[in-house]
Amino acid sequence: MRRLLLSASASLCLGLGCSTAPVTRPDAQARQSPAPTPTATGRGGAAATVDVRATSAAIDILKAGGNAVDAAVAAASVLGVTDPYSCGIGGGGFMLVYLARDQRVVTVDHRETAPQGLERSHFYENGAPLPFDELVTSGLSVGVPGALLGWDEALRRYGSRSLADVLQPAIRVAEQGFDVDSTFFEQTRHNVERFRDFSSSAALYLGPDGRPWPVGSTFKNPGLARTYRLVAEGGTPVFYRGALARALISTVTHPPLVPGASRTVRPGVMRLEDLARYEALVRPPVTSTYRGYTLHGMGPPSSGGLTLALTFHLLEAENPASLSRADFLHRYLEASRLAFADRDAFIGDPAFVSVPVSGLLSRDYAAQRRSALSGARASTAAAAPGNPLPFQGDVPEASPSAAPARRAAEDTLLDKETTHITTSDAAGNIVAYTCTLEGEGGNGMVVPGYGFLLNNEMTDFDLPATVDAPHPNAPAPGKRPRSSMSPLLVFKDGAPVLALGSPGGATIITTVGQTLLNHLDFGMPLDEALAAPRVSQRNAPTAASNAEPEFLASPEAAALTARGHAFTNAGPLGAATGLRFHPDGTVTAVAEPRRRGGGSARVVEPVK
Ligand code: GLU
Repeated sequence: MRRLLLSASASLCLGLGCSTAPVTRPDAQARQSPAPTPTATGRGGAAATVDVRATSAAIDILKAGGNAVDAAVAAASVLGVTDPYSCGIGGGGFMLVYLARDQRVVTVDHRETAPQGLERSHFYENGAPLPFDELVTSGLSVGVPGALLGWDEALRRYGSRSLADVLQPAIRVAEQGFDVDSTFFEQTRHNVERFRDFSSSAALYLGPDGRPWPVGSTFKNPGLARTYRLVAEGGTPVFYRGALARALISTVTHPPLVPGASRTVRPGVMRLEDLARYEALVRPPVTSTYRGYTLHGMGPPSSGGLTLALTFHLLEAENPASLSRADFLHRYLEASRLAFADRDAFIGDPAFVSVPVSGLLSRDYAAQRRSALSGARASTAAAAPGNPLPFQGDVPEASPSAAPARRAAEDTLLDKETTHITTSDAAGNIVAYTCTLEGEGGNGMVVPGYGFLLNNEMTDFDLPATVDAPHPNAPAPGKRPRSSMSPLLVFKDGAPVLALGSPGGATIITTVGQTLLNHLDFGMPLDEALAAPRVSQRNAPTAASNAEPEFLASPEAAALTARGHAFTNAGPLGAATGLRFHPDGTVTAVAEPRRRGGGSARVVEPVK
């Protein structure tokens, strides 16, 4: 491990960071945002996000003739202002796009990427993985951000507006400000200790007293407004080359610690060349079927699409009509356990690892894997992976074996932040877009003067106990860490049925899976399916599932406990959004009614 520790005394107050303060004030006349509604039905286009201003930006663009891609990017750029601890131009994401005219689904992978100089050895010291907490708030955990190039790529290929156009609502929100609500306040509060240690983060997100801006005050981000303006004028090169790029690299390599901070902050090794060579990648989706529905999900480097596909292939042999809800949930949880065992063993960045995609998707593999499903009782130990390699349609290639590893951040932490956007337009195009900084507040460092936080996505790599043990998701230069983000589009007989997605680390997969199951198998309308209490089985070594308190109090939990299931209380899981497309051409947009303070769903032309 190279010794690159920064102490507070070595910290620098870089560039504009020492002088730029947000215009943030307690304000009795705070701009009141319209009250969010979590469900809306109508025509002409729809949007659902976690935030009323982001949904409004999407609907305004749709009303002005923009398409679903324009609307999704407009919403994402507003969320960079109003939901800045979850997403933004310092991070990345995965966008699924249904192109109605061509009747095909494409994906835009703009996952953060390890810098070329980031060796696996950087994550180890004295032969052991670095402490996780140290990695979270570090320069080492920052991947090359992909968001802006992802937005630009999606707009150029599939949008109808320029990046400059769709950034305008976000510029307005950043300049005019928005009223701090309890969600924003709480998210800031969770980050106070970290933000206090970085001059740029404290200057933007904390008041002069070092506390979060109170609920009801107006929060403005002139630095981010300026950044968006610069990008609107100069395009993505403003971000990936030039002064902003230099400020970003300085933040990663010389974190802006305040004098006297005692935190150990390991600088990163990102260079300007890493930013200049970043590419957003257009990939085909991972496609599977379930009871006559076609599911399009995100393929590697996300594990979302494949893990969901395998879970549902395993479950398809069960008939929900002939089972009690608890019996069906038992089978779902056991299927999820097996699917996660395979996920952990086989999925990584396909540029580095031979992921057995066709084997994992094979019906014959699922039929064989089903024999590992526990019977009437829950498994009491973690499942071992299966072997999909003989089921590969192409010439089987050996996948690397997975040594036991410290599980990636997104596998273990539940209090994760990310955000999901769903949009559709009058022409029938649909976007399911999940974007993230990884942890809540990313690595905690605002790029001085530019108003956005950096990601800590490199903590999504797995770290085996020793630096040379094989693992498909171990760090490597230029590699994208495995994700769980699971934007999903569901069709029946060629017609769109659902768009779905959620935040929540690895619980993203189970939140999307359970919502789908609630809707397709239990017949709940999408709003009920999405609001229902959640349970998440991810093949933890303890064999237990995580569950929300409301699930723990349910009759199903009691019945499952009687079958040997163990649960731990996880608090709220995810904050999903979705769209349900009806045969009469109307769309129901759905956001969370309660989780994360409730989201906002709207349509262009409401009916009823
Ligand atoms: N970084 C995680 C992933 O890519 C997402 C984190 C979250 O959802 O909170 O899967």
